Amino acid sequence: GLTGRLQSVFSKLRGKGKVSEDDVNEAMREVRLALLEADVNFKVVKDFVAKVKEKAIGKEVMESFTPGMVIIDIVNKELTELMGGTQAKLAKANKPPTVIMMAGLQGAGKTTTSGKLAKLLQKGNHRPLLVAGDIYRPAAIKQLEVLGEQIKVPVFSLGDKVSPVEIAKQGLQHAKDNNLDYVIIDTAGRLHVDEELMEELKQIHATVKPDEVLLVVDAMTGQDAVNVADSFNKQLDLSGVVLTKLDGDTRGGAALSVKAVTGCPIKFAALGEKIDALEPFHPERMASRILGMGDMLSLIEKAQANIDADKAKEMERKMRNAEFTFDDFLEQMDQVKKLGPIDQILDMLPGMNKAKGMKDLKVDDKQMGRVEAIVKSMTKKEKSQPEIINHNRRKRIAAGSGTSLAEVNRLIKQFDDMRRMMKQFSGMMGGMGGGKASK
Ligand code: GDP
Ligand code: MG
Repeated sequence: GLTGRLQSVFSKLRGKGKVSEDDVNEAMREVRLALLEADVNFKVVKDFVAKVKEKAIGKEVMESFTPGMVIIDIVNKELTELMGGTQAKLAKANKPPTVIMMAGLQGAGKTTTSGKLAKLLQKGNHRPLLVAGDIYRPAAIKQLEVLGEQIKVPVFSLGDKVSPVEIAKQGLQHAKDNNLDYVIIDTAGRLHVDEELMEELKQIHATVKPDEVLLVVDAMTGQDAVNVADSFNKQLDLSGVVLTKLDGDTRGGAALSVKAVTGCPIKFAALGEKIDALEPFHPERMASRILGMGDMLSLIEKAQANIDADKAKEMERKMRNAEFTFDDFLEQMDQVKKLGPIDQILDMLPGMNKAKGMKDLKVDDKQMGRVEAIVKSMTKKEKSQPEIINHNRRKRIAAGSGTSLAEVNRLIKQFDDMRRMMKQFSGMMGGMGGGKASK
């Protein structure tokens, strides 16, 4: 799926200390394909990729300490923007009741969503009324009545012999008379957008003057959903979209295109058949869900806020030149500690990722305290010249730090391995200018 494909694009970028323009172009080519395959509108994809590229190829990004991470962050923010940026709230009438009219094709989920929305409103201490405006589909009225019964919300119905326009009108009056503050009008759908359907919806619209016209679209239908939204919007002046069936195997196309194509914000997401499977749509949450890296994204934000870029670059240079000392090691640990779970962070830091030996240190949070104690028990000279730490010194360090000789030995061995590996690594990089500090 989309998430898997994006993840593999970004895992290639993530560990890189340097990202070239070619790397960005290659990554964007893959992002473009992944989006098209997920059924995102062609033009939307084109604009999206152009925007991300423009931001990613900037000097600042390429020279940042963690360009791969910065690019993921850019993609995340642009995805969020694409879906409307911030959460679009349900309209509220100055004078109750607030009238919400549902629209959409048959089977999109209008009736189910009407019930779910009533439930959400009720949870917010409102008194909604459901109005059964679909007189064509057999059992549509019954379906709404069953939902109303289930959540103890009144359902207004005049059977199937009265016109939907009249039902909507009387339903609204009923809400006013009974001091109900939201009216949700369920309407009929067709298999395709047609004149007759639009005419009836327009008449209901003209009669009840809704505060909110929500188009319910089935996210599983991808670009078709977007085309449907576009044609409804041209005739009905929609105020919002509800994406249903996001629990299924959706490819993401509808969620990513509908706002850009219609200008209509997504207000709710339905994630299942159950009555409480409806939630306000949060573009930023959807973006990180699509990227499949919620945790990673918050780490990236923290890293950007907390890691001192100049210090980090100096560390990387020292690592490359094998000048890395136990002092540097402690400092590195201090920076990392500010962020949270160590393992994940080690993976994200370019220098760390390359220096595989670093991972063998297996610093989990608990162990880190012991490692710190060991290093702090070293003398200044020992820290900068680990090779002088002989057996007697090790015994002294173990005693001083309240650890064991075995632990001290292990740490020093791992540190040595790491330095040796870095030396080889910087030898390899030497001819390629890899050791040159930027700026
Ligand atoms: P309507 O014709 O637009 O009123 O559509 P319905 O509300 O009758 O829903 C059609 C079918 O889609 C029903 O079987 C619903 O249970 C199902 N459905 C609606 N919303 C969702 C959803 O978010 N997820 C899943 N999996 N099924 C849904
Ligand atoms: Mg229905």
